[in-house]
Amino acid sequence: MTKHGPLTRRDALKLAGGAAALGALTSAVPYAAQAAAPMLGVSRPSIYRFKLGAFEVTNILDGYVQGPGPHPTFGNNQTPEAVQALVTAHGLPATRHENQFVVTLVNTGKELVLFDAGNPKGRAPTTGHLSQLIVTAGYQPEQVDVVVISHGHPDHVGGLLVDGKPVYPNARYVFGAREFDYWNKGENIPDARKGTRDIFMQFAAPLGEKAAMIKEDAEIVGGIRAIPAFGHSPGMLAFHIESEGKRLVNWADTANHYVLSVQQPDWYVAFDQDKDAAVATRRRIFDMVSADKLPVVGYHMPFPAVGWVEKTATSYRWVPATTQMNF
Ligand SMILES: [Zn+2]
Repeated sequence: MTKHGPLTRRDALKLAGGAAALGALTSAVPYAAQAAAPMLGVSRPSIYRFKLGAFEVTNILDGYVQGPGPHPTFGNNQTPEAVQALVTAHGLPATRHENQFVVTLVNTGKELVLFDAGNPKGRAPTTGHLSQLIVTAGYQPEQVDVVVISHGHPDHVGGLLVDGKPVYPNARYVFGAREFDYWNKGENIPDARKGTRDIFMQFAAPLGEKAAMIKEDAEIVGGIRAIPAFGHSPGMLAFHIESEGKRLVNWADTANHYVLSVQQPDWYVAFDQDKDAAVATRRRIFDMVSADKLPVVGYHMPFPAVGWVEKTATSYRWVPATTQMNF
């Protein structure tokens, strides 16, 4: 066989013979076999950072839980078949649902602002590790200057304290006044939300004394302003974030399923305390972000939880970010 010439039939036969001989040799002489690479299980990205003008925005996945669903949690006033038809049309399982938890951290250059604090430790194996993930993302919990709470549900306030001590010891805290008062007073709490109130009193209420209680359209720090998003919770806040003319909306739990709640904003969601108010909030915020083509981060959108809402002929759809935020 010439070094660079074409392989002839005779060369091929010689090679085959050689391979057979080598096979015989290797089976006769023991040597350390190369082990198959171990199976590692799934691996998921959990940190995504992009620039917004002069700000840096880091989304961190505080884990996920899987369970039955999405019906009746989503499409609570619809038939199971209607909900299943819509999710299966998008390649999602008919009777299983994954809920992801995505915390947003914004470095304005002057202050490091954390939006929501993730789950309490131990809720699920993948959740409750936010403070370590913040370190992996390049920050220390001590560097967090402001913790802003969108609403009082366990997956948003459960990571504020560990063993009664603040996880972000140097931070000041910001709550929507209406939301904090609702849970803190504890009047008219529906039975289904009694556990939510207990967790709020354990993890959030102790920080109330040193927290700023803001109105639903207040400026939090330069470039970050609250937007009322009542419904999912009585005083939930969304946020408008702007730097050097670049804008972003953090809609918290305005929509919690990237297909069902965006394409069918009127479908009730079991988690929404005032279901009609939540519908109205979805429509108002979808109209705002779609009209202005504003990118959105959402706490329960699929990681990295950045995308756009596009208005369609009859409704809306979620357009996940790909490379747009890299420019
Ligand atoms: Zn939530």
